[in-house]
Amino acid sequence: MSASAVLTRTAPLYQRVASVIPAIEWPVFADDIDAILALKRERNAVILAHNYMTPEIFHCVADIVGDSLALAREAMKVDADVIVLAGVHFMAETAKMLNPAKTVLIPDLEAGCSLAASITAADVRLMRARYPGVPVVTYVNSSAAVKAESDICCTSANAQKIVESLGSDTVIMLPDEYLAQNVAAKTHVKIFAWAGHCEVHERFTAAEVRALRADHPGVTILAHPECPPSVIAEADYTGSTADMSNYVGREKPARVVLLTECSMADNVAVHHPDVDFVRPCNLCPHMKRITLPKIRRTLETLRHEVTIDPALAIRARQAVERMLAV
Ligand code: SF4
Repeated sequence: MSASAVLTRTAPLYQRVASVIPAIEWPVFADDIDAILALKRERNAVILAHNYMTPEIFHCVADIVGDSLALAREAMKVDADVIVLAGVHFMAETAKMLNPAKTVLIPDLEAGCSLAASITAADVRLMRARYPGVPVVTYVNSSAAVKAESDICCTSANAQKIVESLGSDTVIMLPDEYLAQNVAAKTHVKIFAWAGHCEVHERFTAAEVRALRADHPGVTILAHPECPPSVIAEADYTGSTADMSNYVGREKPARVVLLTECSMADNVAVHHPDVDFVRPCNLCPHMKRITLPKIRRTLETLRHEVTIDPALAIRARQAVERMLAV
């Protein structure tokens, strides 16, 4: 296929991202995008892309976009044989858990997560032994093995509600220490936390937030609850990636900062050309392992398939389903 034919065919897609991808860069992406769209049809595949994917993935090849749980749940509704998870490994595990009959592929097996890597199933059993009878609430940013040891899962959006739904004075909350501390600040429930951190959000500081306000008068600052409590205290609003996106759409701030992964601002900015996004940039190196060439290769080769031991998957899925029932 000639390069000009590919550019003509992908021109409408470029219009979606023209505000965040310079025209000179588009030919680098166009060939892979064109091939991926054809491979998706051939394989009866869908691509699930997390909010932290780069715009050429998020806006040009993804079928379903959102946070990790939204991706997995939406995938349950699609009639596809193959799911490609453009995100990190625990997200692919969750997609497999909720879609056991589908082939789930991840473009790079090394796409991990500092939070998920901070804790093992044996660690959860140790926490249970240390605090007998105390229920375990596990953030979805965790491995299937850790979820399987838990009573219930939570997301950054519903964490407080889940903690309070258990009717217990105390809970163990894993693995994100800052999310646990941020929830503890708003609830009467005593929380025992694990010392896991997201390497992207832990880097934001209160001093950086104050400097942003000084440099950009009137700016609205939105922070993800994986940020340290001192950062949350300086922000105007705290919410999950979906909450931040909804906030920008609803409130239409003239100028905004999203204290989260870099690509999130690019992806939200595409839909809000009249909002000025100030972009302090913390990249997730794991998310950035997922690229268009790797997605193309995954669809060509059907590698790397993500599998979970069926018995473990049932237990992990129960923890997720208990959350969904709250
Ligand atoms: S942004 Fe943080 S929580 Fe998300 S995958 Fe990267 S390290 Fe993990």
